[in-house]
Amino acid sequence: MAVDQPTDGFETRALHAGQDPEQVTGAVVPPVFQTSTFAQPAVGEHTGYEYARTGNPTRTALEVALAALEGAEHGVAFASGMAASDTVLRRLEPGDHIVLGDDAYGGTFRLINNIYTGHGVKWSPADLTDPAVLDAHWNPATQVVWLETPTNPLLTVIDIAAIAEVAHKHGAKCVVDNTFASPYLQQPLVLGADLVVHSTTKYIGGHSDVVGGFVATNDDEWAADLRYLQNAIGAVPGPQDCFLTLRGLKTLAVRMDRHSDNARAIVDLLGDHPAVSHVLYPGLDGHPGSGVAKAQMSDFGGMVSFRVAAGAEAAKKVAASTRLFTLAESLGGVESLIEHPGAMTHASAAGSPLEVPDDLVRLSVGIETAADLVADLAHSLDQIS
Ligand SMILES: *Cc1c(COP(=O)(O)O)cnc(C)c1O
Repeated sequence: MAVDQPTDGFETRALHAGQDPEQVTGAVVPPVFQTSTFAQPAVGEHTGYEYARTGNPTRTALEVALAALEGAEHGVAFASGMAASDTVLRRLEPGDHIVLGDDAYGGTFRLINNIYTGHGVKWSPADLTDPAVLDAHWNPATQVVWLETPTNPLLTVIDIAAIAEVAHKHGAKCVVDNTFASPYLQQPLVLGADLVVHSTTKYIGGHSDVVGGFVATNDDEWAADLRYLQNAIGAVPGPQDCFLTLRGLKTLAVRMDRHSDNARAIVDLLGDHPAVSHVLYPGLDGHPGSGVAKAQMSDFGGMVSFRVAAGAEAAKKVAASTRLFTLAESLGGVESLIEHPGAMTHASAAGSPLEVPDDLVRLSVGIETAADLVADLAHSLDQIS
């Protein structure tokens, strides 16, 4: 890997880490190795690849590139973000306990609450905005503190360094789901996290055309286990998916800059609009986490949530009436999306401690012309005010 230097800048790593020209033909882009198996030169010998669940060169390119973006020694790719999360959680044993931030991706809540609880793993939700509370109420069975920041969908900011310190004090690991920020805006491992989990489906892939997941770590023991589990469980991404994700991540930096700029334009509109009661965005000075966000993120990204003054029905009406913001789950693609979390992405959290307000609307602000996005949303908000 001659091109990959640890001192290279983020954009350089995105283009070159793991992506040297292919050795046989010089192809500049890592080819899609659409093969299930690899010929072996002799019995008991192989080229580094034997069977494509265990390893595939297109996947290796993706894993090296993503690890470089997170500043990690090890990277392991999965078929989806949930497969990545599940594989991390497989290390837990009956009786172990997870602390889950009390605002989290609905699927993470579902996996822990509906699947792992059945296997004897315990969990509890926690408000992680105050690390002292976590410390004071520490459960000795806790092995993992699992957090997102900014959180989904409330955009709460958690101090990664402070939570990692509490976890380490008690001998537990800190896992950060870095999907919302992306490695361009936030580097959890540098801040003290032990593992970073991604849904690469979102900003890293960036084009709403592929589902994938990823785990990065500097912990050799966890990395060896994850690699073993990746092969043993087999929730691996196919080569075409790895290719698409690699193509997407090359432009992560320029996309995140534009997502962040466009989100600021939308936040300005929302702050002034009478139909909106609260704007949830870590870049706002009045946001309780803005100080931590400024310290641990290089910009605030493209996710914006807001609450509609007239309540749930009006919120649903806004979400269903925009022209350019497409009504859909997911986030992080170049095109803008709008959704009602209570009835869509977070419906599985209804009645739980992770339930979200029913007047909430979540935006994934895309990279269309900012003025068009502002006009589109203003038009929908005007209809209900
Ligand atoms: C989408 C998402 C996931 C799950 O990822 P999939 O690729 O959909 O399996 C996990 N965490 C967050 C924050 C997400 O937005």
